[in-house]
Amino acid sequence: MASPSIPPSPKWKRAVLKISGEALASSSSEEIIDATVLDQLATEVVEVSSGLGVELAIVVGGGNIWRGGTGAGAKLERATSDNMGMLATTINALALQNAIEKKGQPTRVQSAIQMAELAEPYIRRRAIRHLEKGRVVIFAAGTGSPYFTTDTAAALRGAEIDAEVVLKGTHSGIDGVYSADPKLDPEAIKFDAISFMEVVSRDLRVMDLTAITFCKDNDLPVLVFDLMTPGNILRALRGEFLGTLVS
Ligand code: UDP
Repeated sequence: MASPSIPPSPKWKRAVLKISGEALASSSSEEIIDATVLDQLATEVVEVSSGLGVELAIVVGGGNIWRGGTGAGAKLERATSDNMGMLATTINALALQNAIEKKGQPTRVQSAIQMAELAEPYIRRRAIRHLEKGRVVIFAAGTGSPYFTTDTAAALRGAEIDAEVVLKGTHSGIDGVYSADPKLDPEAIKFDAISFMEVVSRDLRVMDLTAITFCKDNDLPVLVFDLMTPGNILRALRGEFLGTLVS
């Protein structure tokens, strides 16, 4: 049995964690980034990277600031609006980097859109090298192309860096994949595991379809879990029973 000071080895050694922009927003005020949430997430990131030894990359969304296809964004030219959304992810990436580094964990932000003064450009081999050296890599600006989402960016980067899993953190209080929306349907049942095919055929809203089919085609499992319960990132990467595994 492992000593209590040495955590058991991780189930997945290299992972991409997808954090929605809205997960960073405050639920109690208008703040687009909540300092307490940021601090909590940063603590957990350090636990899994320095503590558990997981090579962790993060893809952060921008929905707390701007979404290309909805709200005011829907009134703009789509590509321009999406570019604005990708810039929003970069704001979140810099905030996350700062919060994580304050806790002594080296990180690098790599952006899919060049902004040399703020972040490294996305270079796949360099990202892998950072991970091997124990640095957390935060991927900013999604895929760098309009018409996509950061879910797809998480899937794409996951495949590119040879991650073993995409951790799709939810922030809505729904802790996995259900047969129907559990907030609307009391009969909804939660799946512990489900296939990609079933997610697609039942039209379950796990990630957008582009991201899900990409993960299926590239044999990249997705663990959907409640990001906001403290300790869940560690639990997920240790392989504890939580959320829904899509594979
Ligand atoms: N976006 C994009 N290409 C990408 C990733 C994101 O154009 O590869 C834009 C898109 O407008 C999207 C916005 O950035 O609405 C914010 O990303 P997303 O909606 O995925 O963020 P989240 O919902 O995860 O906060």
